[in-house]
Amino acid sequence: MVSWVVTANDARPAGKLGECFYCQTPVGYEHRVGCVLRCVPAVAYIRKNDTGEVRQCATIWLVDDPSPFIWEEGNYRCDCNRHLFFNHAGGENDSDDCSCGETAYTVLKIVLEDETVVYEENS
Ligand SMILES: [Zn+2]
Ligand SMILES: [Zn+2]
Repeated sequence: MVSWVVTANDARPAGKLGECFYCQTPVGYEHRVGCVLRCVPAVAYIRKNDTGEVRQCATIWLVDDPSPFIWEEGNYRCDCNRHLFFNHAGGENDSDDCSCGETAYTVLKIVLEDETVVYEENS
């Protein structure tokens, strides 16, 4: 069972000591629902649609509502972000030759460490 208790580290350099930088919960208590630190490691299988190549991209999965949202309609919907994930997974440098859109990349699935599939897109 994952615990969401705030640790001293969650204050981040910019935050107030003794509380979560994101949800302002004090150390020792659980992060509030929706806090971005309520997340687990995940792997996104991202396909570059014009070549069909699929890469496994390390990402995180927020356990609360925003996670599907950012992939379906938020920042990670956009090809420019998917392009960055894809390039990183291949050890390539960032390049800005990808313009915004929603057709260049498809996220086939997102899988947690225990193999649970938490997100899929129809391709
Ligand atoms: Zn928090
Ligand atoms: Zn974009």
